[in-house]
Amino acid sequence: MNKKTKMIHGGIVGDPATGAVSVPIYQVSTYKQDAVGVHKGFEYSRTGNPTRHALEELIKDLEEGEAGFAFGSGMAAITAIMMLFNSGDHVIMTDDVYGGTYRVMTKVLNRYGIESTFVDTSDLSNIEKALQDNTKALYIETPTNPLLKITDLEKAAEIAKKHQLMTIVDNTFSTPYWQTPLTLGADIVFHSATKYIGGHSDVVGGLVVVNNAKLAEDLHFIQNSTGGVLGPQDSWLLMRGIKTLGLRMEATETNAAELVDFLTGHEGVKKVYYPGLESHPNHSVAKKQAGGFGGMISFDVGSGEKAEEVLGKVKYFTLAESLGAVESLISLPAKMTHASIPYDRRQDLGITDGLIRISVGIEDAEDLIEDLKNALA
Ligand SMILES: *Cc1c(COP(=O)(O)O)cnc(C)c1O
Repeated sequence: MNKKTKMIHGGIVGDPATGAVSVPIYQVSTYKQDAVGVHKGFEYSRTGNPTRHALEELIKDLEEGEAGFAFGSGMAAITAIMMLFNSGDHVIMTDDVYGGTYRVMTKVLNRYGIESTFVDTSDLSNIEKALQDNTKALYIETPTNPLLKITDLEKAAEIAKKHQLMTIVDNTFSTPYWQTPLTLGADIVFHSATKYIGGHSDVVGGLVVVNNAKLAEDLHFIQNSTGGVLGPQDSWLLMRGIKTLGLRMEATETNAAELVDFLTGHEGVKKVYYPGLESHPNHSVAKKQAGGFGGMISFDVGSGEKAEEVLGKVKYFTLAESLGAVESLISLPAKMTHASIPYDRRQDLGITDGLIRISVGIEDAEDLIEDLKNALA
């Protein structure tokens, strides 16, 4: 089955009980048992809910894994994954991971003895340099935010295997439409489904897919024990979002290419970050491992004042955090998503005050270009 077909026909299609074409929202907490312990597969909705189950089956199919899990947010999903480890374990992570990931590792999970080291995984040699006797996992985000750095997933997973590390990938930016990390050797893939998977800025959720039965059993145990599950209504919204994920990713890709063309040719733009640019240091890796380059573009307009002026003038780009929805969004990482990173560290990473990040939506490219042209003038 090809991907757009799988988004419609994957997982559980319709409702086995009634034939309803759309899986109903089973807004229910508990299930009648015919006799003690005799039930139809569902006992209590933290443990399992038919709507959530349908979503979990669908994401499992899309990521080509063994089992899927839906959580109340991307952060709840990451936290559950990290609970697979024990106090005293160490994880090597991509240095410019999502800010919330950095925060949960360094301010919460560290208190439970889970250690982390952050390195630039787009340079694979940094991975082995960060190895410790207690290293148990390699955690990669690719492309990264906001600089769109790319890590070679196949090669990174090979290095991890050599050292008996589990490979975990945050696939939020690429989605399973463009990139399936489990097929490249990863053990666990996850999403902030709040972004492209939901796609309409109307739901917060997290999805995880694992590649073997042991991990499936362990993660289900954690999901049921700690309870950060996604509710039935939000599960239904994500399934609805997934039906058009392929179409949205294609439309975003076309728009992004046109915007990158415009931005690279504009004299007021000092630098453009986009994996689809041949000048991107890991363009060939991006091309090899993903079917598309995605809808996130960052560009530097030289100063914080200029950047704020642009953000104040745009009409179709909504000034907001988050990404991956039908509407185009614009943000200033240094003052918004990455403000908690100290100034010097931001400069080292390349997150300058004049760096603007856009999440390209599915409006007409012509209008988006016109909008940026006016704002940059
Ligand atoms: C938003 C985001 C997260 C966190 O997900 P929430 O749904 O906001 O909890 C994790 N990783 C990436 C790359 C994100 O963009």
